[in-house]
Amino acid sequence: MAYQYDLFVIGAGSGGVRASRVAASKGFKVAVAEGSALGGTCVNIGCVPKKLFVYGSEYGHGFDEAAGFGWQHEGVSFDWSVLRDNKTKEIERLNGIYGNLLNNAGVELISGFASFVDAHTVEVNGQTYTAERILIAVGAKPFIPDFEGNDLVVSSNEMFYLESLPSKALVVGGGYIAVEFAGILNGLGVDTTLAYRGDQLLRGFDQDVRDFASVEYEKSGIDVRLNTDVASIELVDPQQPNASRLVHFKDGHSEAFGLILYATGRVPNVSTLALEKAGVETVKNGAVKVDRNFTTTADSVFALGDVTDNIQLTPVAIKEAMALIDYWFEAKPVNFDYDNIPTAVFSQPAIGTVGLSEQEAETRGIDFRVYQTDFRPMKHTLSGGTSRSLMKLLVNNQNDKVIGAHMVGDYSGEIIQGLGIAIKAGATKADFDATVGVHPTSAEEFVTFS
Ligand code: NDP
Repeated sequence: MAYQYDLFVIGAGSGGVRASRVAASKGFKVAVAEGSALGGTCVNIGCVPKKLFVYGSEYGHGFDEAAGFGWQHEGVSFDWSVLRDNKTKEIERLNGIYGNLLNNAGVELISGFASFVDAHTVEVNGQTYTAERILIAVGAKPFIPDFEGNDLVVSSNEMFYLESLPSKALVVGGGYIAVEFAGILNGLGVDTTLAYRGDQLLRGFDQDVRDFASVEYEKSGIDVRLNTDVASIELVDPQQPNASRLVHFKDGHSEAFGLILYATGRVPNVSTLALEKAGVETVKNGAVKVDRNFTTTADSVFALGDVTDNIQLTPVAIKEAMALIDYWFEAKPVNFDYDNIPTAVFSQPAIGTVGLSEQEAETRGIDFRVYQTDFRPMKHTLSGGTSRSLMKLLVNNQNDKVIGAHMVGDYSGEIIQGLGIAIKAGATKADFDATVGVHPTSAEEFVTFS
């Protein structure tokens, strides 16, 4: 049977755009449907604008630290609308670039949200399109739990377009988004409380990293409250936007905040896709079920990125798209390697991590040793800042291979990328020792452990 397209992609985010334009450049006739701005979560309401906000908020600490280096900074003020609007302009520029990339590759862009008619047909704005293959790359959306007053909170989506900044904010959650936005708000001068229901932030990270980061967040000015959860929220004074939400915590304490951000995880964006019409099944959290070749339970339908149950990171979705292209064009089985994926949390200080945590290494029964240090970065000898950095290396005793590297401190994201290459390539502790350090840097600590 003849289809209109070789490939129809639902969602022009990081994974969808990459799959569409590479498939088109290799000869497929491709269409992509997108109902929102091009670039998806990462470009519009995720990684990119978040990082711009992190840069903006770091100046909040930078002005204070500059005094020890001789700078005077009386009269410094911050205008939220300038940061927000300049960010939006930059994002619009990126939306244009994404449009050009698709256009230049010959991808047909269809504006609207697609839903399935069957395993080879989708509908967008009442019009149907047929394709030999359909790729679901619709990502995920914020999850906000059900409780009284949950309509009074915002998700990360709204944080990028706030009308004004409050004087006092509550961030709920203990994952990437919660600690990153707590840092942003705190750096921008907002009195910030971070409430997490568990014993320690950042579940899944190395325990020493979690403990160390939590202390550093406190030192930077965030009021970190562990074992703390919200029971309900009510609007106390609609006339006062800056202190109008009264939060009743489960421990009986109540407190007013001008803004409450819920960063309590993300769920696959599947509710409007009518997956059942295509015979596409989901797993228990609603993620699209895929096999190792990103094929769903319908042979002609594929899925990748945050809509599946794999790791929710932009570079992972992009690499998955490239692997799927190889599968289609070169008949290479995918077997995507999810081990040793470096990642950074752009909190303040930042966290960089790659490989196993100490707890994971123990669970796997690996015989390993640990090298660890924490120190005051050189910059703070003059800045007067009290923050410290942590570095930790895990080495397998059987073969001397470095199996985990973790850092809390300035430039962690930049440093961990290089270590990611070394660990992926199977570097040993002896290789690290044979590497000459770059002096004076924090990074050199990773090659001078003894
Ligand atoms: P995470 O899954 O990382 O964290 C969710 C947090 O919310 C956890 O601390 C969780 O607690 C808590 N939580 C969940 N449900 C509730 C509830 N009902 N009440 C109170 N707290 C709750 O999600 P994020 O939203 O922070 O981020 C989603 C994903 O996006 C990340 O996992 C990451 O992969 C990606 N991301 C990556 C970034 C980067 O690379 N820098 C930046 C931002 C996001 P508990 O631990 O107890 O379950």
